[in-house]
Amino acid sequence: MNVLSVQQLTKRYGSIIALDGVSFDVPQGSIFGILGPNGSGKTTTLGIVTDVLKATHGNYQYFGSAPTAQHRQKIGTLLETPNFYHYLSAVENLRISATIKGKGLEDIPQVLQRVNLFERKNSAFSTFSLGMKQRLAIAAALLGSPEVLILDEPTNGLDPVGITEIRELIKSLRQEGKTIIMASHLLDEVEKVCTHMVVLKKGKVITEGKVNDILAQGDSVEVGAAGQPGLASCLRSYPGVKKVEELPTGHVQAFFEEKEVPMGKLNAYCFSQGITLDFLAPKRKSLETRFLELTEENKTTYAKAPQH
Ligand code: ATP
Repeated sequence: MNVLSVQQLTKRYGSIIALDGVSFDVPQGSIFGILGPNGSGKTTTLGIVTDVLKATHGNYQYFGSAPTAQHRQKIGTLLETPNFYHYLSAVENLRISATIKGKGLEDIPQVLQRVNLFERKNSAFSTFSLGMKQRLAIAAALLGSPEVLILDEPTNGLDPVGITEIRELIKSLRQEGKTIIMASHLLDEVEKVCTHMVVLKKGKVITEGKVNDILAQGDSVEVGAAGQPGLASCLRSYPGVKKVEELPTGHVQAFFEEKEVPMGKLNAYCFSQGITLDFLAPKRKSLETRFLELTEENKTTYAKAPQH
């Protein structure tokens, strides 16, 4: 079941096309990353699906039907850092957030526990680290126990400790059954946190799916045959291999001309050459490598309205 389904969203600002026919589905229980460089349309997408902006064309559904006020109750959002009062405590700030959002006050102790700030609930906001401030913002988004959390660049501006705190919090919220939709321009973040993603470039989708599948779409395998010399030269002689690299682990990475690597045939070939493999696996690419490939492949998708 999809929590959110976006179809052909287009958003124009005069001659600028911020979104150009964006479609994707967010499965329930996923951590769904909207990845793209600055200006690719991430914030615009989140603005539309949270009803802050109106799309020029296209539509979206929550839980399989057109968005309703009831659906909105199931969605917690953090699009920009809330304006918390510096001199007020965490709990006092959350009381104000709850009142503004029309949520009851009874959730406040629980959301403070959830983001690990309960012990500091009476401390002034001004005494918090940036990571704690962001956790308080997530606590505000959790008021009313939403099923879906929508976060725009949740670790922006944080130091490594703050980043880790927020990532762990996001992963644990998923374990409780929530779906998290987050925009990020950080490849490493999406690779470490997200289960699914859509990659945007200049307002267009360049790929969408499970992070593991997107990274596995590769053209190389890692091969091992401990204590048996000649593995690298054996692989070099296999038809379709364009490059072979010896890895520091003693394994060898073979790059193929075709995207589909014939694992079984490769194993049989090595065996016929007197080498028994003890390791054979597709080599997962780093998201950075894959992202650069994807953006190279899509160089022509420049979204700008025709000038009249
Ligand atoms: P960032 O990571 O920098 O926030 P983003 O991927 O979130 O980028 P958007 O903020 O959605 O991208 O912007 C997409 C495009 O739309 C950009 O070219 C931006 O300049 C343009 N844009 C966004 N808001 C407006 C606006 N109010 N008026 C004109 N153009 C806008």
